[in-house]
Amino acid sequence: MSFSKLQLSSPILQAVQENNYVKPTPIQEKVIPLVLEKHDIMAKAQTGSGKSASFVLPVLEQWAENLGEGKPKIKVLVLTPTRELTIQVAEYFSTFGTHLPRKPKVVSVIGGESIGDQLFAIQKGCDILVATSGRFLDVLRKKQMNLAHLEFLVLDEADKMLNLGFSEELDLILEAIPTQRQNLLFSATYPQKMLDIASKITKNPVEVSFEDEAPTVDKIVQRVIEVNPENRGPVLRQLMKQEKWKTVLVFMTNKRATDNIAEKFRKRGYLAESFHGDLTQEDRNYTLEQFKAKKIQILFATDLVSRGLDIDDISCVINYDLPRSPADYIHRIGRTGRAGKAGLAVTFIGHDEQEHFKLIEKRSNIKLEREQIKGYELKGDAALKEKGKAPVKGKRKSKKDKLREQALKDAE
Ligand code: AMP
Repeated sequence: MSFSKLQLSSPILQAVQENNYVKPTPIQEKVIPLVLEKHDIMAKAQTGSGKSASFVLPVLEQWAENLGEGKPKIKVLVLTPTRELTIQVAEYFSTFGTHLPRKPKVVSVIGGESIGDQLFAIQKGCDILVATSGRFLDVLRKKQMNLAHLEFLVLDEADKMLNLGFSEELDLILEAIPTQRQNLLFSATYPQKMLDIASKITKNPVEVSFEDEAPTVDKIVQRVIEVNPENRGPVLRQLMKQEKWKTVLVFMTNKRATDNIAEKFRKRGYLAESFHGDLTQEDRNYTLEQFKAKKIQILFATDLVSRGLDIDDISCVINYDLPRSPADYIHRIGRTGRAGKAGLAVTFIGHDEQEHFKLIEKRSNIKLEREQIKGYELKGDAALKEKGKAPVKGKRKSKKDKLREQALKDAE
């Protein structure tokens, strides 16, 4: 099937073509017609499936058909879990709306940037508002925004918002917008909490699911390397040399650790940066732009970057630290192999991670072979570790060791 069969008008089709979208992805094929038929949607969609365009295109289409007179009015509200996804979705609306007779005015509303500027942008004229829910509420409380004309509410990656005390926020938002509207809900999973939210916001939604189809991550080659924690850095450098990866995204748990290791890699001549929630919004945006433009070769990031973010052509995703959950594993490795391209994900595990990774494999229905890298073979006795005797993640110093060290220092 081609896009031209999807009842989209030529300005949108032109933008689709210019962005090299040749064929709709399965979710686009299903969701676009349903949205154009004005159904509420409850879609179970993986990241990387093309879900953004599945709502952006038909919403733009309907928005353009029904422009009305006068100053722009907020007709579309999209809520997303992260600042980065907000900016990305806003960009999609601008990109695909570029040839419409009137280009939509898209405003993104996120924390970390001036609320005054955002309010000003809204008041100057806004058709489409893309926001993280917390900041959206802050703006709402200022009572300077007219939502009476809202026609579309979209929740993107909604399950990710559940963690953020979202249910209460959503109640406040629902009170502020018209009850008559079209609701589009996208979520990778539907736990009970999500179903409760779905029943609150949607009316007779059409449920769209892709469970029977191969998830995008099937196209990703997944490798597991057994290595002691202290050798992960050297192994990573060796792999980068051997495999000649151009862009590498490395996931770590700890914000400080991403800064430290990026610094170490820079000292060795790599174009390396870190990305985490403590950076200013400006720095986050800049880093991602540089990474997208391939001016950063290796990005050390926390899971902040693992959802929804669209960076093409990542040669490899590395799980330097294991993700907490199987879902996070899928989201992380989904950063490579976007839109059906082949990708590669490498996971480092030491003794301590064996059990946790087995669980991830079991839940994700995969079984991966373990490799070891010559010169950095996994050392140490797993059995000892279980008894808590062997060193874990850089041996913890005993009080005696510390005293000895101090005595040595004092003697110097
Ligand atoms: P998403 O799941 O919306 O984040 O999209 C994942 C990636 O696929 C993004 O890089 C999109 O630009 C790309 N993409 C989405 N739909 C298509 C399509 N029909 N053809 C080619 N690329 C697409």
